[in-house]
Amino acid sequence: GATISIRQLRKTYVMGRVRVHALAGVDMDIPAGSFTVVMGPSGSGKSTLLYLLGGLERPTSGQILVDGKDLSAMDENALALYRRSTVGFVFQQFNLVPSMTALENVAFPMRFSGIRTGERLKRAKDLLTQVGLATHVKHRPTEMSGGQQQRVAIARALVHNPRLILADEPTGNLDSVTGYSIMQLLSELHQQGRTVMVVTHDPRMLRFATHTIYLLDGRVVSRDDFEKASALPE
Ligand code: ADP
Ligand code: ADP
Repeated sequence: GATISIRQLRKTYVMGRVRVHALAGVDMDIPAGSFTVVMGPSGSGKSTLLYLLGGLERPTSGQILVDGKDLSAMDENALALYRRSTVGFVFQQFNLVPSMTALENVAFPMRFSGIRTGERLKRAKDLLTQVGLATHVKHRPTEMSGGQQQRVAIARALVHNPRLILADEPTGNLDSVTGYSIMQLLSELHQQGRTVMVVTHDPRMLRFATHTIYLLDGRVVSRDDFEKASALPE
């Protein structure tokens, strides 16, 4: 798995005259092979943290070290390589291509990798088998349940065998039983040695966590302070 160190991380969005401090100076150290759950109310900066860690957005200031390499110092090419080689992203909305079968969706990110078509399809089939969808390779997203679609999305995230899995509310669109099976699948990826970070509102995810991060207003807070704030009326 990947090791993460974050130092004084800030992300400020500027909209006209309004500045939003989505992350207002965040520090954390996440060891390789950990399963981190990020908790926090809506707007506390959880997605921003994942997007910065995934190299999908750039920080306003501060450092994000993944295996000792600073993402904020990378040029666009290096960052693109980092996203491809190191990170697997899982979203709440699955983000599958509707016109493609499960197999095509998983094989798709390998299209420019220089891997032969036959090998790509074989690897995609293996990954779908690994997530329990061997019998659904020819199904399109509309022909699958939400949980099955999320499994396809997880298989796709594994295509380049990433050391870091980032999941943004992966169970947010699923019923609670299906959601739990997706949590278990993420836990298996962790047990295989990957570093996993999950943003979630579901406290059941905590039983899989080796580390928990509580965010409030773009800052990391203690569990005590988080619970005090959660008990206050909105
Ligand atoms: P660590 O950084 O803890 O040594 P790695 O990031 O090298 O772990 O590997 C994470 C997981 O991915 C492990 O379960 C490892 O077996 C697996 N893995 C790493 N590289 C490959 C590969 N090229 N093909 C298949 N599995 C791999
Ligand atoms: P969470 O995931 O915890 O709900 P986010 O990271 O999505 O929080 O957002 C943190 C804050 O940053 C919120 O106030 C949100 O409105 C703001 N924000 C997030 N993305 C953008 C953006 N692209 N442009 C402007 N403001 C944004």
